[in-house]
Amino acid sequence: MHLDLYDGILTDTFTESLPIQLKLFMRLKYRTFSTLSLATLLAAALKLSTESNALAAPDPNWVDHDRNRPEPPVVVPGRNSTADQVGTAPSDATVLFDGTNISQWVSLNDGSPTKWIVRDGYMECVKGSGYIRTLQNFGDCQLHVEWATPNPPHGEGQGRGNSGVFFGFDRYEVQVLDSYQANTYADGSAGAIYGQYPPLVNVSLPPGKWQTYDIVYTAPRFDADGKLLSPVRETVFYNGVLIQNNVELTGPTSWLERAPYKSHPEKQPIALQDHGNPVRYRNIWVRELGKPGKKEFTLPEAQLDSYVGTYEGEIEVTREEHQLVLKFNGVKFIMFAESPTKFFAKTTDVQLEFLPDADGKVNRVISSVGEGGGGEGQKRIK
Ligand code: MG
Repeated sequence: MHLDLYDGILTDTFTESLPIQLKLFMRLKYRTFSTLSLATLLAAALKLSTESNALAAPDPNWVDHDRNRPEPPVVVPGRNSTADQVGTAPSDATVLFDGTNISQWVSLNDGSPTKWIVRDGYMECVKGSGYIRTLQNFGDCQLHVEWATPNPPHGEGQGRGNSGVFFGFDRYEVQVLDSYQANTYADGSAGAIYGQYPPLVNVSLPPGKWQTYDIVYTAPRFDADGKLLSPVRETVFYNGVLIQNNVELTGPTSWLERAPYKSHPEKQPIALQDHGNPVRYRNIWVRELGKPGKKEFTLPEAQLDSYVGTYEGEIEVTREEHQLVLKFNGVKFIMFAESPTKFFAKTTDVQLEFLPDADGKVNRVISSVGEGGGGEGQKRIK
């Protein structure tokens, strides 16, 4: 598109020596071409500015130095960790682990409480207990996470302090590994986008030392038919040093294979890997960078199952993997959790709020489409 636009401009200069009719024809042709290209560019920039934090051009909705343009929100910066003191999060971050409370993290598969342990301001992976994930979902974001591999070290290669930071549920891994004076394959070392991009440099500290990842994650986008519109992009700073510079992922990170993309919702949990090694984590926080919107959660399966049933008014609620599905008037809606009891659809303004009885059982739901809601709600039939 850029080339088309510049072609038009260059041709205007080039044609000065040509006969007038040819000049006119070319100007007409290329002017139209240029205008089209510009419109396409602007549309693309607008589309990008509304769909992700990635901007290809300044926002065309504002003129330069526009006095009416809102000022950026004020954020109080956090404090970096030092050898003696753990740091703090910026004021607009969501703190995912503060050293004491692991309640935002659950077992990856079914959302049940994790067996990872919390001790002395960190949490530690317990071998065989499984990956953990956040209850809240995140799309484009900035993630800060600190980790330490076991000291004294155990094992070799991929068996030495292996864990991982995953975006998109368990799809896209930034490798966590003891890579201090330790050998393994390059695209599996600390800071690698596993199996795809080795880190640019190895800035690993010795085992037992606290190390930091600051990661900028751009979620993939898919169209309604599940076709990939834009891939995952990641930038990673490891102990403050840039090691992944806006790389584009080929698909989910995987062992032995190059897995293709499969469509998934933009916002997904962030996960940490149980690779059988007691790797520790502390001071985890995240800043959402995407379009402002409702918070989204991936609730535990048992909680979702407590809402499954048929309610008055032909409301049928089922579960498909990690989400509730509403069937209403013959139309199916994928529902997203905005709280432990409230759900919304993204295609239509449909809302569900489940009302637990005094004994905790859910026998009523308030449903609304575009209007209404409130009141006693509809009773469960089965
Ligand atoms: Mg790993």
